[in-house]
Amino acid sequence: MGIVSELYKAKQRDFSERLREMTDPRVVYVTDLVSCSYKRVMRLQFPLLSFRFEPSLVLGDLVHAGLGSLLASRGWETEVPIERKYIIDGEEYILKGRIDLLKRNDDGKPHTIVEIKTSRELPENSPREHHIMQLRIYMELTGAKRGYLLYVTPDRLVEFEVEPSSVDVEALLRETIYNLRAPRYDWECRYCSYRKICPFARLGRHS
Ligand code: SF4
Repeated sequence: MGIVSELYKAKQRDFSERLREMTDPRVVYVTDLVSCSYKRVMRLQFPLLSFRFEPSLVLGDLVHAGLGSLLASRGWETEVPIERKYIIDGEEYILKGRIDLLKRNDDGKPHTIVEIKTSRELPENSPREHHIMQLRIYMELTGAKRGYLLYVTPDRLVEFEVEPSSVDVEALLRETIYNLRAPRYDWECRYCSYRKICPFARLGRHS
């Protein structure tokens, strides 16, 4: 079996293992809170459409894994799962996320969080608003006082410190659960796996 085929099967297995969780209507991911609320609706209905196997995603995985392994000996934890329960209008929801890099104080409390973003080039208006929001949600959930967004591109390696700021996680959960932000940003639809079957897609006249 070739290595690309093995990689594909490994990604497919990971995806299958997450399928039950991905289609649980009580589960909301931190990334759901900072993106189009209808993507979650579509994921619940058409989960297989969200499987993607592309070089840019494999590169992103490699960067995350590589940075994690380089920094592990310097006290950084990688891919740290986080989970909180919320009751919204009498229904229980589980907010789930995964922190790219986390460092703790001597007392074990989270101190610094890093979110890693990979792309072909440094996005304009970096750091991006939804990336800042995602990091601030993790800071709010963990109590970490310092947060950094690390952008990795083929020719840039740039970090931005993000000040902590309180985030109304319950309000974001409501927006997501009740589908009040579809899309959250106009540009989202162009990159969305569901755009061809989505009634809210904003693709422009020639798309
Ligand atoms: S196509 Fe646009 S509105 Fe529809 S799910 Fe995707 S991002 Fe949301």
